Amino acid sequence: MTTNVPTLVLNNGVAIPQVGFGVFQIPRPETVRAVLTAFEAGYRHIDTAQMYGNEAEVGEAVAASGLPRGDVFLTTKLHNERHGHDAALAALDESLERMRTAYVDLYLIHWPVPDEDRYVATWRACEALLADGKARAIGVSNLYADQLQRLAARATIVPAVNQVEVHPHVQRAGLRAYHRAHGIATEAWSPIARGRSLGDPTIATLARKHDKSAAQIILRWQVQAGNVLLTKSATPARMRENIALFDFALDDEDMRAIAALDGDPHGAPDRTAEAAHRMPRWTP
Ligand code: NDP
Repeated sequence: MTTNVPTLVLNNGVAIPQVGFGVFQIPRPETVRAVLTAFEAGYRHIDTAQMYGNEAEVGEAVAASGLPRGDVFLTTKLHNERHGHDAALAALDESLERMRTAYVDLYLIHWPVPDEDRYVATWRACEALLADGKARAIGVSNLYADQLQRLAARATIVPAVNQVEVHPHVQRAGLRAYHRAHGIATEAWSPIARGRSLGDPTIATLARKHDKSAAQIILRWQVQAGNVLLTKSATPARMRENIALFDFALDDEDMRAIAALDGDPHGAPDRTAEAAHRMPRWTP
């Protein structure tokens, strides 16, 4: 199966497939099969995390797929309880062992956990891991612009990505403008708001207009907005649907209609603050 997913070039020259398959909340016993099905559907970018508890199964699927390691883009993210310089270094070594690989393509700080105020020290560890070749690119997740600014003032390397919640009802225009101005790619988590954006009447109208599903309209909007998107489904037909985004295009009027959904009080909520509150104490 060849894949027609385009790649974007990160700020250090590394190419990243614009559509990734996320494995958050895929139970461990189902992860190998899910990732193999995703590969069959054409995904070549897998997004996991230490906190998802399924890195070993992702690594097992990569090995079982027979795909050359260089054809797969693998991301993992630092556990919230492994912040700090030495802990972050050791945590990636453990991930590499679990995933049976010498390097990840992208290592992210999963959450800044600002109450502990260690994410700058953690970032320095990420810079060392990049220099060591254990990560081909390094980035962050769930940072707001002021936190990115703080990192910029104290660190050497600009994050290649910031992985944040972005969907039609929570578009983060200001943060994405900051990313563009500083060469940081936006990765969208929950790109269809866990399904809560699918019932929106504007999306339904566009789905009829283009003879596509509501999910495809939203994911195509993510592509045209320039985001890397991380879609998750445990359902093979939806996995295929969510990557079939490259045989149609939204026009300017369609893009404006979706832009107008941002902040809709009847739309899908912004879950980042609630998740940030919950995640620091979360263990698999
Ligand atoms: P999504 O917006 O991708 O939603 C996934 C949900 O939508 C699942 O319940 C899935 O159901 C359903 N779904 C998927 N495709 C379709 C479709 N075509 N039609 C109808 N329903 C569909 O959100 P997630 O929160 O799962 O995020 C995706 C990925 O983003 C994660 O796997 C993870 O990699 C990343 N992420 C990162 C976070 C971070 O803090 N950095 C936080 C959250 C997510 P089903 O599986 O039953 O098909």
